[in-house]
Amino acid sequence: MASSRTILIAGAGIGGLTAALTLSRIGYRVLIAEQASALSDVGAGIQLSPNATHVLQALGVTDRLAATAVVPAGLSIRSARSGAEIAYMPMGPAFAFRYGAPYWMLHRGDLQAALAQAVSEHPDIELKLGARIEDFAVHAHGVTAQLRDARGVTEERAPILIGADGLWSTIRTRLGDPSKPVFRERTAWRALIPASVVPEEFRQPVTRLWLGGNAHLVHYPVRGGTLINVVAIVRDRWKAPGWSAPGSRDELLRRFRRWPKAARALVEIPESWLKWALFDREEPGFRGHGPVTLIGDASHPMLPFLAQGAAMAIEDAAVLARCLASPSTDPEPALRRYEAIRHARVKRVQQEARANSRTYHMAGFAALARNMTMRLMGGERLRARYDWLYDWRPD
Ligand SMILES: Cc1cc2nc3c(=O)[nH]c(=O)nc-3n(C[C@H](O)[C@H](O)[C@H](O)COP(=O)(O)OP(=O)(O)OC[C@H]3O[C@@H](n4cnc5c(N)ncnc54)[C@H](O)[C@@H]3O)c2cc1C
Repeated sequence: MASSRTILIAGAGIGGLTAALTLSRIGYRVLIAEQASALSDVGAGIQLSPNATHVLQALGVTDRLAATAVVPAGLSIRSARSGAEIAYMPMGPAFAFRYGAPYWMLHRGDLQAALAQAVSEHPDIELKLGARIEDFAVHAHGVTAQLRDARGVTEERAPILIGADGLWSTIRTRLGDPSKPVFRERTAWRALIPASVVPEEFRQPVTRLWLGGNAHLVHYPVRGGTLINVVAIVRDRWKAPGWSAPGSRDELLRRFRRWPKAARALVEIPESWLKWALFDREEPGFRGHGPVTLIGDASHPMLPFLAQGAAMAIEDAAVLARCLASPSTDPEPALRRYEAIRHARVKRVQQEARANSRTYHMAGFAALARNMTMRLMGGERLRARYDWLYDWRPD
């Protein structure tokens, strides 16, 4: 496929697939190498805020998701001590009106499938499954990457290589970054429950966020309201890499045994849980080198306390395409410009997510003070604090 307008992408996650679409729109041919042999329905809920759905709208992907996406009417923040609502942030259609694009709650698999479908229909994008990029060498005409698949190792040449290969990025390591993702002493446990088995109030299109000492619980409907995504995040020492380790139901129930009855009843429903350890990196937006750059979690993994991991990968894809848009663009300065543009924003989002990880898990007097502050602020002012995040455009 190599030509002077070819881009090689490592990884067909949300970031890699979105980048293939934004780059093919401006005339590039794209080859995506994905190590997994199939893009399966892995993962659970993902929230997409207007800063991200705005990009997907421009790509025509939102039409493919409209039937399965759930628009939250609001966010209900509750105390895990008393069970009472601390604040309610109205969202709904007013949110889309204010920020120019909707806020959506989705199954990660649905989002990945919609992007993969759009990719498969594009004549200038090729997706190679079961192909892992193991290494690359930079030379005068770009890069030569080594791909390992079932038949052995082959080489691909391209003027540009984008590492969209997630938290444990090989491309980042090969670029010379010796650092490792940092474990943040928490695990996230996920389960999907049929909506038919939860109480009526939990079927409503509302995100419910319960704040407790050293733990929080968030749940909301996905897949057109047919499933309820439940995620429990707890302080923990378990830190194996990966997204889908089996979690002990009994262990989780013990952590929630003093929680309000309604929250406990929900956590008791799933027979099995999958868990993953939470990592981010000290240095977000690590700079690429020559014709190589990074996007998404490979560049700036996020703790899930601001629900911005997928959104930042999508934003990256839009900005990268803007920087590479001119037909005469020399790739290297364009890639450095992309990295410079993204740095302050991803750093701020990463820091906010980390700050929320402390605020959400407060205990004792600190939690009481937090609740009082949130109550006094009210939902509208809590939302307005995030205007800078949601009211974003690639240019
Ligand atoms: C299996 C899985 C399940 C997830 N589940 C959830 C969830 O339930 N909730 C949530 O909020 N977030 C989840 N995430 C994380 C979320 O999707 C990402 O944080 C976010 O979308 C950023 O996406 P990304 O494209 O940067 O990275 P990722 O989504 O991590 O995608 C990276 C892709 O690169 C591939 N890859 C890695 N190394 C190589 C290589 N050397 N060569 C070729 N391909 C490579 C991986 O197989 C993967 O498909 C999950 C991620 C994965 C991979």
